[in-house]
Amino acid sequence: MATMIIEGERAKAISGKTYEVRNPATGEVVDVVPSGGPADVDKAAQAAAKAFATWSKLAPAKRAEILHKAAHHMLSKVEEIAPILTKEQGKTLLESRLEAQRFGENIAWFADLADKVHGQHVSLPDTTTYGLVIRMPIGVCGAIVPWNFPLTLAANKVAPAIAAGNTVVLKPASTTPLSTLACIEALIEGGLPDGVVNVVLGTAIGEAMVDHPLIRKIALTGSTPTGKKVMARAAEGLKKITLELGGSDPCIVLDDADLDAAVKGISIGRYFNCGQACLAVKRLYVQDGVYDALLEKLVARVAKLKPGNGLDKDSRMGPMHSETQRAEVEAQIKDAVARGAKVLFGGGRPKGEQYDKGWFIEPTILLDVPDDARVWKEEVFGPALPVRRIKDLDEALRLANDSAFGLGSSIWTANMAHARRAVQELEAGYTWVNALQIAHDELPFGGVKQSGFGKEHGLEAYYSYTEQKSVVYGGV
Ligand code: NAD
Repeated sequence: MATMIIEGERAKAISGKTYEVRNPATGEVVDVVPSGGPADVDKAAQAAAKAFATWSKLAPAKRAEILHKAAHHMLSKVEEIAPILTKEQGKTLLESRLEAQRFGENIAWFADLADKVHGQHVSLPDTTTYGLVIRMPIGVCGAIVPWNFPLTLAANKVAPAIAAGNTVVLKPASTTPLSTLACIEALIEGGLPDGVVNVVLGTAIGEAMVDHPLIRKIALTGSTPTGKKVMARAAEGLKKITLELGGSDPCIVLDDADLDAAVKGISIGRYFNCGQACLAVKRLYVQDGVYDALLEKLVARVAKLKPGNGLDKDSRMGPMHSETQRAEVEAQIKDAVARGAKVLFGGGRPKGEQYDKGWFIEPTILLDVPDDARVWKEEVFGPALPVRRIKDLDEALRLANDSAFGLGSSIWTANMAHARRAVQELEAGYTWVNALQIAHDELPFGGVKQSGFGKEHGLEAYYSYTEQKSVVYGGV
Protein backbone atom coordinates (compact mmCIF):
# COMPACT_ATOMS: atom_id res chain seq x y z
CA MET A 1 0.00 0.00 0.00
CA ALA A 2 1.27 3.49 -0.90
CA THR A 3 1.43 6.08 1.87
CA MET A 4 1.48 9.85 2.21
CA ILE A 5 4.86 11.54 2.72
CA ILE A 6 4.96 13.87 5.71
CA GLU A 7 8.26 15.16 7.12
CA GLY A 8 10.07 12.53 5.11
CA GLU A 9 8.08 9.74 6.83
CA ARG A 10 5.70 7.37 5.06
CA ALA A 11 2.35 8.15 6.70
CA LYS A 12 -1.05 6.45 6.75
CA ALA A 13 -4.19 8.57 7.20
CA ILE A 14 -4.82 9.47 10.85
CA SER A 15 -8.34 8.06 10.43
CA GLY A 16 -6.92 4.81 9.02
CA LYS A 17 -9.22 5.19 5.99
CA THR A 18 -8.09 4.14 2.52
CA TYR A 19 -9.36 4.15 -1.06
CA GLU A 20 -8.48 2.36 -4.28
CA VAL A 21 -6.70 3.76 -7.32
CA ARG A 22 -7.85 2.05 -10.52
CA ASN A 23 -6.37 1.66 -13.98
CA PRO A 24 -8.51 3.52 -16.57
CA ALA A 25 -7.57 0.99 -19.26
CA THR A 26 -8.57 -2.16 -17.38
CA GLY A 27 -10.54 -1.17 -14.29
CA GLU A 28 -8.04 -3.12 -12.17
CA VAL A 29 -6.94 -1.84 -8.77
CA VAL A 30 -3.43 -0.42 -9.10
CA ASP A 31 -2.95 0.31 -5.40
CA VAL A 32 -4.72 1.22 -2.17
CA VAL A 33 -3.82 4.61 -0.70
CA PRO A 34 -4.58 6.54 2.51
CA SER A 35 -7.67 8.70 2.46
CA GLY A 36 -6.48 11.71 4.43
CA GLY A 37 -8.61 14.43 5.99
CA PRO A 38 -8.09 17.87 7.56
CA ALA A 39 -6.00 16.37 10.42
CA ASP A 40 -3.51 14.99 7.89
CA VAL A 41 -3.36 18.34 6.10
CA ASP A 42 -2.61 19.94 9.47
CA LYS A 43 0.18 17.45 10.15
CA ALA A 44 1.69 18.14 6.74
CA ALA A 45 1.40 21.93 7.14
CA GLN A 46 3.09 21.74 10.56
CA ALA A 47 5.90 19.66 9.06
CA ALA A 48 6.31 22.13 6.20
CA ALA A 49 6.38 25.07 8.64
CA LYS A 50 9.06 23.33 10.69
CA ALA A 51 11.17 22.62 7.60
CA PHE A 52 10.74 26.22 6.40
CA ALA A 53 12.74 27.46 9.38
CA THR A 54 15.89 25.77 8.06
CA TRP A 55 15.25 25.46 4.30
CA SER A 56 14.51 29.17 3.86
CA LYS A 57 17.76 30.09 5.65
CA LEU A 58 20.07 27.89 3.59
CA ALA A 59 22.46 29.73 1.32
CA PRO A 60 20.69 29.86 -2.07
CA ALA A 61 23.71 28.22 -3.74
CA LYS A 62 23.40 25.31 -1.31
CA ARG A 63 19.68 25.01 -2.09
CA ALA A 64 20.53 24.95 -5.79
CA GLU A 65 23.12 22.20 -5.20
CA ILE A 66 20.68 20.06 -3.19
CA LEU A 67 17.92 20.48 -5.77
CA HIS A 68 20.21 19.61 -8.68
CA LYS A 69 21.34 16.42 -6.95
CA ALA A 70 17.77 15.48 -6.08
CA ALA A 71 16.55 16.18 -9.64
CA HIS A 72 19.43 14.18 -11.09
CA HIS A 73 18.50 11.19 -8.91
CA MET A 74 14.83 11.49 -9.81
CA LEU A 75 15.71 11.60 -13.51
CA SER A 76 17.58 8.30 -13.15
CA LYS A 77 14.21 6.75 -12.20
CA VAL A 78 12.13 7.90 -15.17
CA GLU A 79 11.83 4.36 -16.52
CA GLU A 80 10.45 3.15 -13.16
CA ILE A 81 8.07 6.06 -12.72
CA ALA A 82 6.60 6.11 -16.25
CA PRO A 83 4.65 2.80 -16.00
CA ILE A 84 3.22 3.90 -12.64
CA LEU A 85 1.86 7.03 -14.30
CA THR A 86 0.46 5.04 -17.20
CA LYS A 87 -1.30 2.58 -14.89
CA GLU A 88 -2.99 5.22 -12.77
CA GLN A 89 -3.69 7.86 -15.45
CA GLY A 90 -4.11 5.87 -18.67
CA LYS A 91 -1.71 7.78 -20.95
CA THR A 92 0.74 5.95 -23.20
CA LEU A 93 4.19 5.02 -21.94
CA LEU A 94 5.77 7.49 -24.33
CA GLU A 95 3.63 10.27 -22.88
CA SER A 96 4.44 9.13 -19.32
CA ARG A 97 8.17 9.08 -19.99
CA LEU A 98 8.07 12.59 -21.41
CA GLU A 99 6.11 13.77 -18.41
CA ALA A 100 8.33 12.15 -15.78
CA GLN A 101 11.36 13.59 -17.56
CA ARG A 102 9.76 17.05 -17.51
CA PHE A 103 9.27 16.77 -13.74
CA GLY A 104 13.00 16.38 -13.09
CA GLU A 105 14.00 18.96 -15.71
CA ASN A 106 11.64 21.49 -14.17
CA ILE A 107 13.15 21.02 -10.70
CA ALA A 108 16.61 21.50 -12.22
CA TRP A 109 15.55 24.57 -14.24
CA PHE A 110 14.32 26.39 -11.14
CA ALA A 111 17.28 25.16 -9.07
CA ASP A 112 19.41 27.24 -11.44
CA LEU A 113 17.48 30.36 -10.43
CA ALA A 114 17.87 29.82 -6.68
CA ASP A 115 21.07 31.87 -6.43
CA LYS A 116 20.62 34.03 -9.53
CA VAL A 117 17.64 36.23 -8.64
CA HIS A 118 18.68 39.56 -7.16
CA GLY A 119 17.01 42.42 -5.34
CA GLN A 120 17.59 46.14 -5.87
CA HIS A 121 19.52 48.98 -4.35
CA VAL A 122 17.56 52.26 -4.35
CA SER A 123 18.88 55.78 -3.64
CA LEU A 124 16.75 57.76 -1.22
CA PRO A 125 16.39 61.57 -0.93
CA ASP A 126 18.22 61.71 2.37
CA THR A 127 21.81 60.74 1.65
CA THR A 128 22.28 59.32 5.14
CA THR A 129 19.86 56.52 4.22
CA TYR A 130 19.54 54.08 1.37
CA GLY A 131 16.90 51.59 0.35
CA LEU A 132 16.93 47.95 -0.68
CA VAL A 133 14.22 45.80 -2.17
CA ILE A 134 14.81 42.20 -1.19
CA ARG A 135 12.95 39.03 -2.12
CA MET A 136 11.93 36.60 0.59
CA PRO A 137 10.18 33.24 0.37
CA ILE A 138 6.49 33.28 1.32
CA GLY A 139 6.40 30.36 3.75
CA VAL A 140 4.36 27.17 3.39
CA CYS A 141 2.76 26.93 -0.06
CA GLY A 142 -0.08 24.63 -1.05
CA ALA A 143 -0.07 22.93 -4.45
CA ILE A 144 -3.33 21.40 -5.73
CA VAL A 145 -2.97 19.39 -8.90
CA PRO A 146 -5.39 17.73 -11.39
CA TRP A 147 -5.18 14.25 -12.89
CA ASN A 148 -4.38 15.01 -16.53
CA PHE A 149 -0.67 15.85 -16.13
CA PRO A 150 -0.05 14.90 -12.50
CA LEU A 151 3.72 15.30 -12.66
CA THR A 152 4.17 18.29 -14.96
CA LEU A 153 1.58 20.29 -13.06
CA ALA A 154 3.00 19.33 -9.66
CA ALA A 155 6.52 20.34 -10.79
CA ASN A 156 5.20 23.68 -12.11
CA LYS A 157 4.36 24.56 -8.52
CA VAL A 158 6.85 22.64 -6.39
CA ALA A 159 9.96 23.56 -8.41
CA PRO A 160 9.76 27.39 -8.19
CA ALA A 161 8.41 27.23 -4.63
CA ILE A 162 11.27 25.22 -3.15
CA ALA A 163 13.95 26.89 -5.26
CA ALA A 164 12.84 30.21 -3.74
CA GLY A 165 13.12 28.79 -0.22
CA ASN A 166 9.49 27.90 0.49
CA THR A 167 8.22 24.54 1.67
CA VAL A 168 5.22 22.75 0.20
CA VAL A 169 2.13 20.73 0.99
CA LEU A 170 1.29 18.97 -2.27
CA LYS A 171 -2.06 17.39 -3.04
CA PRO A 172 -2.28 15.29 -6.17
CA ALA A 173 -5.70 14.52 -7.66
CA SER A 174 -7.21 11.62 -5.74
CA THR A 175 -7.08 9.35 -8.80
CA THR A 176 -3.40 9.99 -9.67
CA PRO A 177 -1.35 9.99 -6.46
CA LEU A 178 1.12 7.17 -7.19
CA SER A 179 3.53 8.65 -9.73
CA THR A 180 3.66 11.88 -7.70
CA LEU A 181 4.64 9.90 -4.61
CA ALA A 182 7.32 8.11 -6.63
CA CYS A 183 8.78 11.43 -7.83
CA ILE A 184 8.84 13.03 -4.38
CA GLU A 185 10.23 9.82 -2.91
CA ALA A 186 13.03 9.98 -5.49
CA LEU A 187 13.78 13.63 -4.65
CA ILE A 188 14.04 12.70 -0.97
CA GLU A 189 16.30 9.75 -1.76
CA GLY A 190 18.37 12.18 -3.80
CA GLY A 191 18.86 14.44 -0.77
CA LEU A 192 15.82 16.74 -0.50
CA PRO A 193 15.53 17.41 3.24
CA ASP A 194 12.56 16.06 5.20
CA GLY A 195 9.48 18.28 5.30
CA VAL A 196 10.44 20.48 2.33
CA VAL A 197 7.78 18.74 0.20
CA ASN A 198 4.97 16.86 1.94
CA VAL A 199 2.36 14.89 0.02
CA VAL A 200 -1.18 14.53 1.34
CA LEU A 201 -3.73 12.23 -0.24
CA GLY A 202 -7.49 12.12 -0.01
CA THR A 203 -10.68 12.40 -1.96
CA ALA A 204 -11.80 15.75 -0.49
CA ILE A 205 -8.96 17.56 1.25
CA GLY A 206 -8.45 20.51 -1.09
CA GLU A 207 -10.67 22.76 1.00
CA ALA A 208 -8.75 21.94 4.19
CA MET A 209 -5.60 23.08 2.40
CA VAL A 210 -7.15 26.35 1.31
CA ASP A 211 -8.40 26.93 4.87
CA HIS A 212 -5.21 26.02 6.72
CA PRO A 213 -3.76 29.10 8.47
CA LEU A 214 -0.13 28.02 8.00
CA ILE A 215 -0.52 27.73 4.22
CA ARG A 216 0.12 31.20 2.83
CA LYS A 217 -0.26 30.63 -0.88
CA ILE A 218 -2.39 28.24 -2.92
CA ALA A 219 -1.53 27.29 -6.49
CA LEU A 220 -4.32 25.38 -8.17
CA THR A 221 -4.52 23.81 -11.56
CA GLY A 222 -8.03 22.62 -12.20
CA SER A 223 -11.34 23.45 -13.79
CA THR A 224 -12.78 26.96 -13.86
CA PRO A 225 -15.62 26.12 -11.41
CA THR A 226 -13.06 24.75 -8.91
CA GLY A 227 -10.92 27.87 -9.42
CA LYS A 228 -13.86 30.09 -8.49
CA LYS A 229 -14.53 28.08 -5.32
CA VAL A 230 -10.87 28.18 -4.31
CA MET A 231 -10.66 31.92 -4.96
CA ALA A 232 -13.73 32.61 -2.81
CA ARG A 233 -12.45 30.42 -0.02
CA ALA A 234 -8.90 31.76 -0.16
CA ALA A 235 -10.35 35.26 0.30
CA GLU A 236 -11.24 34.30 3.87
CA GLY A 237 -7.55 33.97 4.72
CA LEU A 238 -6.47 36.66 2.20
CA LYS A 239 -4.14 34.12 0.63
CA LYS A 240 -2.10 34.58 -2.46
CA ILE A 241 -3.41 32.42 -5.29
CA THR A 242 -2.35 31.25 -8.71
CA LEU A 243 -5.16 29.76 -10.77
CA GLU A 244 -4.41 27.75 -13.90
CA LEU A 245 -7.86 26.81 -15.13
CA GLY A 246 -9.75 25.50 -18.13
CA GLY A 247 -9.21 26.47 -21.73
CA SER A 248 -10.71 26.21 -25.20
CA ASP A 249 -7.76 27.15 -27.38
CA PRO A 250 -8.53 28.27 -30.94
CA CYS A 251 -6.24 27.30 -33.81
CA ILE A 252 -6.36 29.27 -37.07
CA VAL A 253 -5.01 27.91 -40.36
CA LEU A 254 -4.76 30.40 -43.23
CA ASP A 255 -4.52 29.64 -46.96
CA ASP A 256 -0.76 30.20 -47.09
CA ALA A 257 0.09 27.84 -44.20
CA ASP A 258 2.51 24.93 -44.39
CA LEU A 259 -0.24 22.32 -44.23
CA ASP A 260 1.91 19.36 -43.21
CA ALA A 261 3.35 21.28 -40.27
CA ALA A 262 -0.11 22.57 -39.34
CA VAL A 263 -1.64 19.09 -39.44
CA LYS A 264 1.10 17.74 -37.20
CA GLY A 265 0.54 20.62 -34.77
CA ILE A 266 -3.22 20.13 -34.77
CA SER A 267 -3.07 16.37 -34.33
CA ILE A 268 -0.58 16.50 -31.45
CA GLY A 269 -2.32 19.57 -30.08
CA ARG A 270 -5.72 17.90 -29.93
CA TYR A 271 -5.04 14.21 -29.34
CA PHE A 272 -1.94 14.13 -27.09
CA ASN A 273 -2.89 12.69 -23.69
CA CYS A 274 -6.21 11.57 -25.21
CA GLY A 275 -7.20 15.21 -25.54
CA GLN A 276 -7.11 15.77 -21.79
CA ALA A 277 -4.93 18.85 -21.79
CA CYS A 278 -5.56 22.42 -20.78
CA LEU A 279 -3.36 23.76 -23.55
CA ALA A 280 -4.74 21.98 -26.58
CA VAL A 281 -6.16 22.69 -30.00
CA LYS A 282 -9.82 22.67 -29.04
CA ARG A 283 -11.44 24.76 -31.82
CA LEU A 284 -10.13 24.72 -35.38
CA TYR A 285 -10.75 27.51 -37.91
CA VAL A 286 -9.52 26.80 -41.45
CA GLN A 287 -9.54 29.24 -44.36
CA ASP A 288 -11.62 28.29 -47.36
CA GLY A 289 -8.74 27.73 -49.82
CA VAL A 290 -7.11 24.96 -47.81
CA TYR A 291 -10.10 23.60 -45.91
CA ASP A 292 -10.52 20.39 -47.93
CA ALA A 293 -6.80 19.71 -48.31
CA LEU A 294 -6.16 20.20 -44.62
CA LEU A 295 -8.99 17.89 -43.60
CA GLU A 296 -7.76 15.17 -45.94
CA LYS A 297 -4.29 15.31 -44.38
CA LEU A 298 -5.69 15.55 -40.85
CA VAL A 299 -7.90 12.47 -41.27
CA ALA A 300 -4.93 10.49 -42.63
CA ARG A 301 -2.90 11.38 -39.56
CA VAL A 302 -5.65 10.89 -36.98
CA ALA A 303 -6.44 7.46 -38.46
CA LYS A 304 -3.04 6.32 -37.14
CA LEU A 305 -3.92 7.17 -33.53
CA LYS A 306 -4.74 3.64 -32.44
CA PRO A 307 -6.47 3.64 -29.04
CA GLY A 308 -5.19 1.08 -26.56
CA ASN A 309 -3.81 0.30 -23.12
CA GLY A 310 -1.01 2.80 -22.54
CA LEU A 311 1.35 -0.03 -21.57
CA ASP A 312 1.04 -1.65 -25.04
CA LYS A 313 3.80 -0.60 -27.40
CA ASP A 314 1.50 -0.09 -30.38
CA SER A 315 -1.05 2.13 -28.56
CA ARG A 316 -1.01 5.69 -29.83
CA MET A 317 -3.78 7.04 -27.59
CA GLY A 318 -4.66 5.78 -24.11
CA PRO A 319 -8.16 5.66 -22.64
CA MET A 320 -9.82 8.64 -21.07
CA HIS A 321 -9.06 8.95 -17.40
CA SER A 322 -12.51 8.24 -16.00
CA GLU A 323 -16.00 7.13 -16.88
CA THR A 324 -17.36 10.57 -16.00
CA GLN A 325 -14.89 12.34 -18.27
CA ARG A 326 -15.72 10.05 -21.19
CA ALA A 327 -19.45 10.51 -20.60
CA GLU A 328 -18.96 14.29 -20.67
CA VAL A 329 -17.10 14.29 -23.98
CA GLU A 330 -19.60 11.81 -25.49
CA ALA A 331 -22.43 14.12 -24.41
CA GLN A 332 -20.69 17.08 -26.07
CA ILE A 333 -20.29 15.09 -29.32
CA LYS A 334 -23.92 13.96 -29.14
CA ASP A 335 -25.09 17.52 -28.60
CA ALA A 336 -23.17 18.71 -31.70
CA VAL A 337 -24.57 15.90 -33.82
CA ALA A 338 -28.12 16.49 -32.57
CA ARG A 339 -27.76 20.12 -33.72
CA GLY A 340 -26.69 19.02 -37.20
CA ALA A 341 -22.91 18.48 -37.04
CA LYS A 342 -21.33 15.84 -39.26
CA VAL A 343 -18.87 13.30 -37.87
CA LEU A 344 -15.89 13.26 -40.25
CA PHE A 345 -13.89 10.79 -38.15
CA GLY A 346 -14.51 8.65 -35.03
CA GLY A 347 -17.44 9.76 -32.93
CA GLY A 348 -17.84 6.61 -30.88
CA ARG A 349 -15.96 3.97 -28.88
CA PRO A 350 -13.40 1.63 -30.45
CA LYS A 351 -14.70 -1.91 -30.84
CA GLY A 352 -13.08 -5.08 -29.52
CA GLU A 353 -12.73 -7.07 -26.33
CA GLN A 354 -9.58 -5.18 -25.32
CA TYR A 355 -11.63 -2.01 -24.99
CA ASP A 356 -14.49 -3.38 -22.90
CA LYS A 357 -13.12 -2.64 -19.44
CA GLY A 358 -11.56 0.77 -20.02
CA TRP A 359 -12.76 4.28 -20.78
CA PHE A 360 -11.72 4.22 -24.43
CA ILE A 361 -13.00 6.65 -27.04
CA GLU A 362 -12.17 7.26 -30.69
CA PRO A 363 -10.32 10.36 -31.82
CA THR A 364 -13.08 12.47 -33.34
CA ILE A 365 -13.40 15.26 -35.91
CA LEU A 366 -16.66 17.19 -36.27
CA LEU A 367 -17.67 19.39 -39.22
CA ASP A 368 -20.53 21.82 -39.85
CA VAL A 369 -20.99 22.34 -36.13
CA PRO A 370 -23.62 25.03 -35.40
CA ASP A 371 -22.56 28.06 -33.37
CA ASP A 372 -24.71 27.17 -30.37
CA ALA A 373 -23.20 23.67 -29.93
CA ARG A 374 -21.55 22.91 -26.60
CA VAL A 375 -18.19 22.10 -28.23
CA TRP A 376 -17.69 25.75 -29.21
CA LYS A 377 -18.81 27.20 -25.90
CA GLU A 378 -17.44 24.75 -23.31
CA GLU A 379 -14.05 23.22 -22.72
CA VAL A 380 -13.84 19.85 -24.51
CA PHE A 381 -11.53 17.83 -22.26
CA GLY A 382 -11.12 14.86 -24.55
CA PRO A 383 -10.18 13.92 -28.13
CA ALA A 384 -12.96 15.63 -30.11
CA LEU A 385 -12.25 18.53 -32.49
CA PRO A 386 -14.85 20.84 -34.06
CA VAL A 387 -13.67 22.37 -37.36
CA ARG A 388 -15.07 25.46 -39.04
CA ARG A 389 -14.46 26.96 -42.47
CA ILE A 390 -13.58 30.66 -42.36
CA LYS A 391 -13.27 33.20 -45.18
CA ASP A 392 -10.55 35.43 -43.73
CA LEU A 393 -8.51 36.36 -40.67
CA ASP A 394 -11.12 38.87 -39.45
CA GLU A 395 -13.73 36.16 -39.20
CA ALA A 396 -11.25 33.75 -37.58
CA LEU A 397 -10.23 36.26 -34.90
CA ARG A 398 -13.83 37.17 -34.14
CA LEU A 399 -14.78 33.51 -33.65
CA ALA A 400 -11.57 32.66 -31.80
CA ASN A 401 -12.20 35.38 -29.23
CA ASP A 402 -15.85 34.44 -28.83
CA SER A 403 -15.06 32.29 -25.81
CA ALA A 404 -15.13 32.69 -22.06
CA PHE A 405 -11.65 31.14 -21.93
CA GLY A 406 -8.24 32.58 -22.78
CA LEU A 407 -5.50 30.05 -22.16
CA GLY A 408 -3.62 29.20 -25.39
CA SER A 409 -4.09 29.93 -29.10
CA SER A 410 -2.26 29.26 -32.34
CA ILE A 411 -2.02 30.37 -35.95
CA TRP A 412 -0.46 28.78 -39.03
CA THR A 413 0.40 31.22 -41.80
CA ALA A 414 3.36 32.33 -43.94
CA ASN A 415 2.17 35.94 -43.77
CA MET A 416 3.98 37.65 -40.89
CA ALA A 417 1.60 40.62 -40.91
CA HIS A 418 -1.29 38.22 -40.32
CA ALA A 419 0.71 36.43 -37.64
CA ARG A 420 1.44 39.71 -35.91
CA ARG A 421 -2.23 40.68 -35.92
CA ALA A 422 -3.14 37.34 -34.41
CA VAL A 423 -0.50 37.74 -31.70
CA GLN A 424 -1.89 41.16 -30.85
CA GLU A 425 -5.57 40.34 -31.04
CA LEU A 426 -6.00 36.77 -29.79
CA GLU A 427 -7.26 36.94 -26.21
CA ALA A 428 -5.03 34.34 -24.62
CA GLY A 429 -2.02 33.96 -22.37
CA TYR A 430 -0.01 32.16 -25.08
CA THR A 431 0.04 32.33 -28.89
CA TRP A 432 2.03 29.91 -31.00
CA VAL A 433 2.87 31.00 -34.56
CA ASN A 434 3.73 28.08 -36.85
CA ALA A 435 4.78 26.08 -33.81
CA LEU A 436 3.61 23.11 -31.75
CA GLN A 437 1.56 24.04 -28.70
CA ILE A 438 4.27 23.15 -26.21
CA ALA A 439 4.73 25.12 -22.99
CA HIS A 440 8.39 26.03 -22.46
CA ASP A 441 10.08 26.34 -19.05
CA GLU A 442 11.54 29.66 -20.17
CA LEU A 443 8.23 31.36 -20.98
CA PRO A 444 5.63 32.45 -18.42
CA PHE A 445 2.47 30.42 -18.84
CA GLY A 446 -1.00 31.37 -17.61
CA GLY A 447 -4.42 32.33 -18.80
CA VAL A 448 -6.62 35.39 -19.19
CA LYS A 449 -10.43 35.66 -18.88
CA GLN A 450 -11.95 32.53 -17.28
CA SER A 451 -8.71 30.58 -17.70
CA GLY A 452 -7.34 32.08 -14.51
CA PHE A 453 -4.44 34.31 -13.56
CA GLY A 454 -0.88 34.16 -12.33
CA LYS A 455 2.04 32.55 -14.13
CA GLU A 456 3.77 29.22 -13.99
CA HIS A 457 7.15 28.65 -15.71
CA GLY A 458 9.79 31.28 -16.25
CA LEU A 459 11.25 33.86 -13.96
CA GLU A 460 7.70 35.09 -13.33
CA ALA A 461 6.83 31.81 -11.58
CA TYR A 462 9.90 32.11 -9.38
CA TYR A 463 8.91 35.66 -8.42
CA SER A 464 5.39 34.52 -7.63
CA TYR A 465 6.83 32.39 -4.83
CA THR A 466 8.56 35.37 -3.24
CA GLU A 467 7.49 38.43 -1.28
CA GLN A 468 9.18 41.76 -1.92
CA LYS A 469 10.31 43.62 1.16
CA SER A 470 11.55 47.20 1.24
CA VAL A 471 14.36 47.97 3.63
CA VAL A 472 15.74 51.34 4.71
CA TYR A 473 19.25 51.55 6.18
CA GLY A 474 19.81 54.76 8.07
CA GLY A 475 22.77 56.41 9.76
CA VAL A 476 25.23 55.84 6.94
P1 NAD B 1 -10.78 19.74 -10.79
O1 NAD B 1 -11.02 21.21 -10.75
O2 NAD B 1 -11.92 18.85 -10.56
O3 NAD B 1 -9.67 19.33 -9.71
C1 NAD B 1 -8.38 19.89 -9.68
C2 NAD B 1 -7.79 19.71 -8.29
O4 NAD B 1 -8.54 20.53 -7.37
C3 NAD B 1 -7.89 18.28 -7.74
O5 NAD B 1 -6.73 17.99 -6.99
C4 NAD B 1 -9.11 18.36 -6.84
O6 NAD B 1 -9.10 17.41 -5.81
C5 NAD B 1 -8.99 19.76 -6.27
N1 NAD B 1 -10.25 20.36 -5.83
C6 NAD B 1 -11.49 20.13 -6.31
N2 NAD B 1 -12.40 20.90 -5.65
C7 NAD B 1 -11.70 21.64 -4.75
C8 NAD B 1 -12.06 22.64 -3.79
N3 NAD B 1 -13.32 23.03 -3.63
N4 NAD B 1 -11.08 23.19 -3.04
C9 NAD B 1 -9.79 22.83 -3.22
N5 NAD B 1 -9.39 21.88 -4.10
C10 NAD B 1 -10.34 21.30 -4.87
O7 NAD B 1 -10.07 19.51 -12.20
P2 NAD B 1 -9.71 18.12 -12.88
O8 NAD B 1 -10.96 17.54 -13.42
O9 NAD B 1 -8.87 17.30 -11.96
O10 NAD B 1 -8.77 18.64 -14.07
C11 NAD B 1 -9.25 19.05 -15.29
C12 NAD B 1 -9.35 20.57 -15.37
O11 NAD B 1 -8.08 21.16 -15.11
C13 NAD B 1 -9.72 21.06 -16.75
O12 NAD B 1 -10.66 22.11 -16.67
C14 NAD B 1 -8.41 21.58 -17.31
O13 NAD B 1 -8.51 22.54 -18.33
C15 NAD B 1 -7.79 22.13 -16.10
N6 NAD B 1 -6.34 22.24 -16.32
C16 NAD B 1 -5.79 23.48 -16.43
C17 NAD B 1 -4.43 23.61 -16.66
C18 NAD B 1 -3.78 24.96 -16.75
O14 NAD B 1 -2.57 25.02 -16.55
N7 NAD B 1 -4.49 26.03 -17.00
C19 NAD B 1 -3.65 22.48 -16.81
C20 NAD B 1 -4.25 21.22 -16.73
C21 NAD B 1 -5.61 21.12 -16.47
